[in-house]
Amino acid sequence: ARESLFGDWLIRLPTHVSVSTILRKIINPEGGTRVTDIAVIGSNMVDLIAYIDKMPKAGETLEADDFAMGCGGKGANQAVAAAKLGADVLMMSRVGEDMFADNTIQNLAQFGVDTRHVRKVPGVSSGVAPIMVDRDSQNRILIIPGANKHLLPADIEAAADDLRQCKLIVLQLEIPLATIYRAIEFGNAENIPVILNPAPATTELDLRYACRCDFFMPNETELEILTGMPVHSLEQIEAAASSLLHRGLKHLVVTLGERGALHMHGDKRTHLVAPAVEAVDTTGAGDAFVGCFAANYIATGDIDSSIQRAVQYASHSVTGRGTQTSYATAAQFDSWLE
Ligand code: ADP
Repeated sequence: ARESLFGDWLIRLPTHVSVSTILRKIINPEGGTRVTDIAVIGSNMVDLIAYIDKMPKAGETLEADDFAMGCGGKGANQAVAAAKLGADVLMMSRVGEDMFADNTIQNLAQFGVDTRHVRKVPGVSSGVAPIMVDRDSQNRILIIPGANKHLLPADIEAAADDLRQCKLIVLQLEIPLATIYRAIEFGNAENIPVILNPAPATTELDLRYACRCDFFMPNETELEILTGMPVHSLEQIEAAASSLLHRGLKHLVVTLGERGALHMHGDKRTHLVAPAVEAVDTTGAGDAFVGCFAANYIATGDIDSSIQRAVQYASHSVTGRGTQTSYATAAQFDSWLE
């Protein structure tokens, strides 16, 4: 059927190229050929944010001043950041069977993210995060992973045809560790570079898998949890990062909030300074960093300049409220840099 449909040239394509992939490349709304740049295999959450004067005590009922709903989850945030910067992104995640599911899928789709592998899991809730923010900007957050816990190792196999078309795999830790390990094995077997953002940190992470990733990108807190070492001064951060690197990591990139980022590779140590900005809301800055790095690395293949740009992009993101809403498009980012 393939030969008769597409003619002679198709026969010479690798056998793993599926008909659906070829069709997607041909029937592409923007015209031209299209391959997926980045596969983000991770979480999506819906943030339910109540803005209140003071936190309720046990048993107390209070009225909140304001309410906002926002799409988040580390995986989805990173996918959206990369897509806003022009990368072709495929998201692989799970949602529940509830009102949040379609909302999540529509949100990703509006940024051009390929949602074919965002699937509904019957009988569970979507991932949600009820958040209370008081007048002093203190917050209390509950995370209900819901369907995110149902993205399983077998799902990597099931999506193998499409994942093989990707040039980069991006992972975080809001889905089961077994699925993350399987995705790393898949990337290694297919020669697809892998970024692991170990967030939120857990000491259960098997660092042997981290060493099989091309890029390992924790923030300071995650570095502290993973190493058990203090991370107050830059010297302490470098010492903790060195101890982690010596476990056999390839590229270690530690984000340092307003201090920028530290890149370690072999004997090389580079500290990239963040631009001074007026920080309004730092939520999701780490995700902006990872998404931007992924998009630039895919576009240029240059690691140093991609880290530099990721620092700038994440710093820009803290100047706006919200998470995905604070991520600039490529055009907005370029004009901000000028
Ligand atoms: P996370 O959001 O995971 O805690 P970080 O706080 O390390 O991550 O921030 C990631 C990136 O965001 C930093 O490398 C930096 O570029 C930028 N950033 C975060 N906070 C600030 C800030 N106060 N001023 C400028 N840039 C910031």
